[in-house]
Amino acid sequence: MRATVMYGPGDVRIEDVPDSHLVEPTDALVHVTRACICGSDLWPYRSMEPSETGQRMGHEFIGVVEAVGDAVRTVKAGDVVVAPFAWSDGTCVFCHEGLHTSCLHGGFWARDGIDGGQGEAVRVPLADGTLVVLPVGEDDALMPSLLTLSDVMGTGHHAALAARVGPGKTVAVVGDGAVGLCGVIAARRLGAERIVILGRHPDRIALAKEFGATDVVSERGDEAVERVRELTGGFGAHSVLECVGYEQSTITALSIARPGGAVGRVGVPQQKEIPTTLTTFFDNVTIAGGPAPARAYIEELMPDVLEGRIEPGRVFDRVISLDEVPAGYRAMNDRESIKVMIDF
Ligand SMILES: [Zn+2]
Ligand SMILES: [Zn+2]
Repeated sequence: MRATVMYGPGDVRIEDVPDSHLVEPTDALVHVTRACICGSDLWPYRSMEPSETGQRMGHEFIGVVEAVGDAVRTVKAGDVVVAPFAWSDGTCVFCHEGLHTSCLHGGFWARDGIDGGQGEAVRVPLADGTLVVLPVGEDDALMPSLLTLSDVMGTGHHAALAARVGPGKTVAVVGDGAVGLCGVIAARRLGAERIVILGRHPDRIALAKEFGATDVVSERGDEAVERVRELTGGFGAHSVLECVGYEQSTITALSIARPGGAVGRVGVPQQKEIPTTLTTFFDNVTIAGGPAPARAYIEELMPDVLEGRIEPGRVFDRVISLDEVPAGYRAMNDRESIKVMIDF
């Protein structure tokens, strides 16, 4: 079968790899029909150590189940399924607490011998816990939005929950990438009264407004902080969603939370320390967040997608084939594309 393999910065190839097959009785074999490139795939694309053997890629996918192991009960051959960006058993103490990314028996795609989603097929471990059956056909028009349940929509929702978004709140979203845009959707869905998006790409800002952003701050650094303060009566936002992970965006996010507010961090931190520790301490700002337990949110968010209340699939502005994946990475890295979908 063919799959995406990364060998070093800017070096992504589509190659023949060994066919996926069932190994454990709890596995499912999924033939991938849609996948995508993630903003987090760009970190290794820019900075990975060159590797002789390469690194399989992809952690967001939808597919059709081809076969299941003897112990699998909740999915069967022919089912259309979505996979969250981490696999999990659904039965351990952390899965019961809704924190599937900390599953005692789970893990992540495209590492430790597990297939990546940017390939023709994936062996899915712990299929009963990991996969969710979609009640639509494999070519349904809702596929782009359903695919976001793998990661970016669940991650935006997680940021909003960590930032304690609720009715009447003023929310600030730092970052206008796919996760930030989904954060806007999530904030509106949870009843936010005012949603300030911090970003500067006109196409993304336009989409953010359609998703429910009420104000735009295009400044950066201290000027951005100043501007958000102006917009919020001098206090800052109740809830701040940090959807980037850079040191500067984290400082901005922490600096625009009002006293007693909360910051939900879902951008993978690119620095070792949490900045602004003294101000956030004296302002009683809650700092929460981490990798989203996307699996925990699929059942909650899916009805809103199926019934058309949210359209997170609009973050995909380019559709490519598997062969075009290297060009897809380039387009996202060069900011020519918000998010790229692979249609197999
Ligand atoms: Zn992702
Ligand atoms: Zn678990």
